[in-house]
Amino acid sequence: MSASAPLPSTVESEEHQALRRAVGDLARSFGPEYFRRKARAGEPVDELWAEAGKAGYLGVNLPAEYGGGGGGITELAIVLEELGAAGAPLLMMIVSPAICGTVIARYGTAEQRERWLPGLADGTRRMAFGITEPDAGSNSHRLTTTARRDGTDWLLSGRKVFISGVDHADAVLFVARTEDARTGRLKPALFVVPRDTPGFEYRPIPMELVTAERQFQVFLDDVRLPADALVGAEDAGLDQLFAGLNPERVMTAAFALGLARQALDVATDYARTRTVWDTPIGAHQAIAHPLAQCAIEIELARLMTSRAAQLYDLGHHQAAGEAANMAKYAAAEAACRTVDQAVHTLGGNGLTQEYGLAALLTATRVARIAPVSREMILNYVSQHTLGLPRSY
Ligand SMILES: Cc1cc2nc3c(=O)[nH]c(=O)nc-3n(C[C@H](O)[C@H](O)[C@H](O)COP(=O)(O)OP(=O)(O)OC[C@H]3O[C@@H](n4cnc5c(N)ncnc54)[C@H](O)[C@@H]3O)c2cc1C
Repeated sequence: MSASAPLPSTVESEEHQALRRAVGDLARSFGPEYFRRKARAGEPVDELWAEAGKAGYLGVNLPAEYGGGGGGITELAIVLEELGAAGAPLLMMIVSPAICGTVIARYGTAEQRERWLPGLADGTRRMAFGITEPDAGSNSHRLTTTARRDGTDWLLSGRKVFISGVDHADAVLFVARTEDARTGRLKPALFVVPRDTPGFEYRPIPMELVTAERQFQVFLDDVRLPADALVGAEDAGLDQLFAGLNPERVMTAAFALGLARQALDVATDYARTRTVWDTPIGAHQAIAHPLAQCAIEIELARLMTSRAAQLYDLGHHQAAGEAANMAKYAAAEAACRTVDQAVHTLGGNGLTQEYGLAALLTATRVARIAPVSREMILNYVSQHTLGLPRSY
């Protein structure tokens, strides 16, 4: 870790607390019913996205000179967590400002920054992110999407899967290999591909999720791109990719924590008042203690998430990578356990549409699987934190 910047504090500033309150107020003005209605209809939550963009929340991490808030992933994670806690999570924040915005801000040319960042910052433009491939899965070193040169242009071919929000994105930032680095350890090359580019096709994947965003298979068939579709250097290595992937992990943690807090609120409200014998069910320790454990686990994961975000924002990139993995793991586990307990606390009502908890069962599972699965994080910690031999 470099000694250049101070280590993160665990005490939240007044400014961050005010940001939490303001974002929560905005999300509550739409309410969970708005979000669920849209999600069940498979419609995007454009109204909320637009208001959050206008208020500066979607681009709070992006440079001020391009219309952003000049903050970092710390602030962006606060926004996403509070939206989720109020019942209105914006999944595409994980992708558009956090991955794509960060990578373009850090590695894009002046022209690329000018073209994309103002729209990503105020939410008027959205960018999806495509790394996952059907035959590579968790092993990114097996990616086969390839870019080959044709004069000054690039021709991009390959297949991606589970790409969120393609239908409402202006473009997708794809992770590919160049032809020169076609095999072996991944040397990622990143390309911005506008959705209307010829040869770019996408098809929705039917998912058992109640979310406003859909996932897509993407087919890239000799998609012709100008030279400046490439973001950063073609052989910059993994650092350039992880500039986006570490924020993605922190944001996924924030997403999970928002959902966990939402579920815990619903469950504790219910347990306080629901009476089937002589006392509210919350007076029974079999109901109260598991909820108390969830509250503790959520709080621990929130601390880890804020630490990971601050390490990233302060430029401690290696420590941020480890912390972001741990935060994503802790938040996803806390969220899965909390939602499970919340559903149980409500009995039959845990599965009604009125209370909205059952939909969170699958939503929180997403955080355990994506963007990197629980097992791959355990592999990382075994190997890098504990120095154990690699098993795969
Ligand atoms: C709702 C949703 C949205 C998504 N959005 C995006 C997106 O916008 N962009 C994008 O690029 N991707 C996206 N993804 C894809 C996601 O990142 C992948 O699903 C994830 O990386 C896991 O890959 P996989 O599904 O191929 O699982 P696999 O890699 O096939 O893994 C299957 C299982 O095997 C386990 N496993 C694999 N290897 C090992 C090992 N070495 N040791 C132990 N266990 C192992 C895994 O932990 C997992 O449990 C999304 C996925 C979902 C579900």
